[in-house]
Amino acid sequence: MTKRSLSLIALGLAAALVLASCAPKPAAIAPQAKRPLILGMHAITETDADARALIGEVPALARRGVNLLVNEVDYWYDYASHPELKMDNPVKKATVKALLAACRAHGIRLVPEFQTLGHQSWAEKTFPLLVKYPHLDETPGKYPGNKGTDPWGTEFYCRSWCPLHPEVPPIVNDLYDELLDVFEADALHVGMDEVFIIADADCPRCAGKSTAELFARAVNDAHDHIVRQRGKEMMMWADRLLDGQATGYGLWEASMNGTDKAIDMVPKDIVMCDWHYEPKYPLQPTPKSVFPSPKIFADKGFRVLPTSFRDADALGRLIDQSLALGSDKVLGHLCTAWRPLRKGDSARLRQLKAASKKIRKARG
Ligand SMILES: [Zn+2]
Repeated sequence: MTKRSLSLIALGLAAALVLASCAPKPAAIAPQAKRPLILGMHAITETDADARALIGEVPALARRGVNLLVNEVDYWYDYASHPELKMDNPVKKATVKALLAACRAHGIRLVPEFQTLGHQSWAEKTFPLLVKYPHLDETPGKYPGNKGTDPWGTEFYCRSWCPLHPEVPPIVNDLYDELLDVFEADALHVGMDEVFIIADADCPRCAGKSTAELFARAVNDAHDHIVRQRGKEMMMWADRLLDGQATGYGLWEASMNGTDKAIDMVPKDIVMCDWHYEPKYPLQPTPKSVFPSPKIFADKGFRVLPTSFRDADALGRLIDQSLALGSDKVLGHLCTAWRPLRKGDSARLRQLKAASKKIRKARG
C-alpha cells in the first residue's frame, strides 16, 4: 500500500540531512550458474473483487514465468477469528480457495502477506487493530488525524502497534494462523517495512529503549509463532535492517533511526525481501544507483529476494547486481505494482516484462 512516489522526496530530504556518503562499488559481473530462480509478483487485494480479478491474472502471470505470488491482504480478509478486524468488502474464504486452485494449476506458490508492526494506518485512515484496540497503539492519542512530525523530524507517515504490548501477539497470531490455514500456505510475509514510529518517548513500555532491540522483538515474536510453532517460512521487507547512510539508500529504503542493528538479532532463516526502486540515490556518489544490500544479507547468511518497482533501469541493475553475486542465497526477484492487479496487467506491466526477461534468461 505504499508509497513509493514519496521516496524521491524523502531521499532528497535525507540528502540534505546527511552530508557524508559511503556507497559501495558496483558488484563485478560473474557468470550465471544455472539454478531454479524465483520470479515473484506482489499483489494487493483490498476487496473481494480485487481478489477475483487476481484469479483472472494467474494464467498470464504463469506465462510470464512467475512462480511466486505474494498476496497482501492485511485487514482486507474476512477474518473469522477476529471479525472485528476486517475491513469493508473483505476477501472471502471461497475466493482465496479459488485463487489457490488457480495458482496450483499453474505452478505458482501462493504466500499471504499481513503488515506487521508498522503501516497500521494509511493517510488519515487508521486500520482496524488500532481503531478497535487503541491502547495497542505505540502513540495512542498522538498525531491526531494521522498528521504531524515524527520524532525523527519527518512528516508523520503510518501508525505502529507497540512491540512490547502483551496483548498484541495473541491477536495477530490468530490472524497469521487464519491466513496460513485458509491460504494453505507454507510461508507468510509479515511486511515490516517503513517503521518510523518506534520507541516513542511517551510509550510506557518502549520509551528510552533501543530501536534495534524493539524492532528485533517484533521480528522475533512473529518468527516464534510462524516458524517455530507453525513450521512455516517467514518473509519480510528488509529495509529496516539496513543502514541508510552506509548503503546510501537513505531513510525509506533503509533505516536512519538505528533499527539496522537488528540485522544481527533476528533468525537467519527469514527470507529478506530487499526492495529498492530508485535510478539514483542522493547519498550515493555514483551517477546511477548501486545496490549493496543483496550482498549484505547473503554475507550475513540470509536468503534474499531483491524486489523492484517501476523504474526499468533500476530494476535491471538490481537483478544484474544481485545475480552477479553468484550466491545461492539470492533466490531470484520479486516485482511489485503497489496496487491491485487489474485485468490485463500481467501482460502489460513493464516491470514484470523486464524482470521476466532477465530471470528467464538466468534460469537457462
Ligand atoms: Zn511501546
